[in-house]
Formats: sequence, structure tokens, C-alpha cells
Amino acid sequence: MQLPVEQFEALSNIPNCRHIFTRRVPGIDVAHDKTETLRRLEAAHLKIRRGLGTGDWPLLTAEQVHGNKIAIVAEPGQAGQLLQQNSGADRSDTDGRSWATQPIDPIGCPSGAIWVDLPTQSDKHFAGCDGLITTQRGVALGIHVADCCAVYIVDPNTPAVGLVHSGKKGTELGVVTNAIMQMSSRFGSKASDLIVQLSPCIRPPHYEVDFATKIIEQCRARGVDQIHDSGICTACHLDLYYSYRVEKGRTGRMLALLGLA
Ligand SMILES: [Zn+2]
Repeated sequence: MQLPVEQFEALSNIPNCRHIFTRRVPGIDVAHDKTETLRRLEAAHLKIRRGLGTGDWPLLTAEQVHGNKIAIVAEPGQAGQLLQQNSGADRSDTDGRSWATQPIDPIGCPSGAIWVDLPTQSDKHFAGCDGLITTQRGVALGIHVADCCAVYIVDPNTPAVGLVHSGKKGTELGVVTNAIMQMSSRFGSKASDLIVQLSPCIRPPHYEVDFATKIIEQCRARGVDQIHDSGICTACHLDLYYSYRVEKGRTGRMLALLGLA
């Protein structure tokens, strides 16, 4: 059986970039709450990760609270250096294996961020975050969506990647803007290098707010011009995707994956 996945042309040809967007998985009853639904989809999603060649990569996920906080997963040691450059914070109290949670206060940053400064060898789940950015190779960023947009951000030059959950509320709070700003201030990513891809998500007339268009405007406002939108409405294609709105909250999730090989 062919795996229920899709890839985006704009990201497919970037060297060392691995990505995928899983679709509705046939034969799995997902009319349950989120925890149960993710449990039921786990085996299929793992099979897909293996098919992509990233089955042994740690999976880093965000709690997804419809906020704008970003988890920053730097190269081991890098976060500490950046932290010193940016805030002069003393990290002598950390042992390099626990996450630093000091709020960062970069210029113009609309929110704090959570820092990880460790060789990431196992799956991690970041509380309170709606996006993740990294320069680390061999780790997979993961976001689960069912109507909200998964926004893939690739900087092939640094290289660095970011993956963001942006629905109606996260878009209002500027979560993608924050991810771009964090990639810029933490990793030195240039807006002109960034390639942004929007996943299928719910759109008008199935939804009253066109947040995909707002996300594109937010990227443009940060100076990004390589922006690609799948243009597909999840609610229009229940054969291919899950829709939280249409299925009244009791549905599955698509897994967006992004990482650097
Ligand atoms: Zn629709």
C-alpha cells in the first residue's frame, strides 16, 4: 500500500532538507480525543518516518497551545554562546543536559522562547510552544494539524529549519513572524534566503478567517519572498485530510515533518 503522504515541490530539491506531510490514514478510526487519536496514528506515522529515512531521528514536537512561543534547538553548545552574546546570562548553573528556560529578550521579539542546548538523542515535547527551529542535523521537527496550517521554513544557506503551527489564533499572535525573527537573531538566517511552504489548511468558505493569506502577508512583512502555498482546503477534501471543524473535533491529525540530514 502506498503511504498516505505528500511532499512539496518547493522543498523537495533543497539539499539535505527532509520533509513530509502525512494525509488521512485509511482504516484507522480516529473519532476520539487528540491523545487517543495520536496514539492510534503513531504506528502509521512511524512507518512514514522510516520511509522518509528519518525513522531513527529524534522527533521534537510542540505542545501547540495556539500561542506564539518557539522552541529553539541549537547545535550543542551553540545556545549557550548565543545566550551569552545576547543577554550575558550566566549558564554556569546548567549542566548542558537540561533545557535552559530563561526568557530571552531579543530586540522586537514578541515572546520568550525555550532553549535546548544538548545533543538531542531522544524524542522531546516542548510545553507551551507552537513552533520549533533548529540548526541541528538528524532531528525531525514535528507539528500535528487538522485544519490549522503547518508552516515549513527552510534556510538552505545556514542551514536551518523551522516548523510552526499557525491557526486562527496563532496567526493573530504572529507565531510565524516570531519563528522567522528567532531564526534570524539566533542563527543569522537572512529573510531573502528563506523558503516558506504552507501546508493544506482550512480556508474560506469553509472557515470565516483566511489565516493562510495572513501568514503569507506576515512572511512578506519580514522580507521573505520565496513563499509557497499548497492552496488546498482540508475541509474540502475529507478523503485526503482530517478536518477538525467538519469532524467536530473528533478526528485525526496530519503530521508535518521537517529536518536537516
Ligand atoms: Zn474548503
